[in-house]
Amino acid sequence: MTESNPEQGKRGLNVRIDARRCIANGKCTTAAPGIYVLDEETGVAVLENEEIATVAQLFAGARACPTQAIIVEQYGRRVFPQILTPMFGEKPDEDEDAASS
Ligand code: SF4
Repeated sequence: MTESNPEQGKRGLNVRIDARRCIANGKCTTAAPGIYVLDEETGVAVLENEEIATVAQLFAGARACPTQAIIVEQYGRRVFPQILTPMFGEKPDEDEDAASS
């Protein structure tokens, strides 16, 4: 099966931003300008120009985020942050990689 989507060049990387975690401090927008931007309406960070973003830019924004709102996945598995700390008052996500034993 051949893939012809732009994600191919990024080795299956996918970025999602958890709006509940975003405190809109703009650290990611400084780390990767034009890739992470603050949405004018909601105030939370969104990913723009994903198709031209480099892997380094995607990770730079994610690393800059103090609240772990930017989650990088590769082929459906979270690769950053490795440990996703639950937010205050939040139960750990059930869709996390549960270390079921
Ligand atoms: S660095 Fe994190 S908390 Fe700050 S704007 Fe970006 S996603 Fe939101």
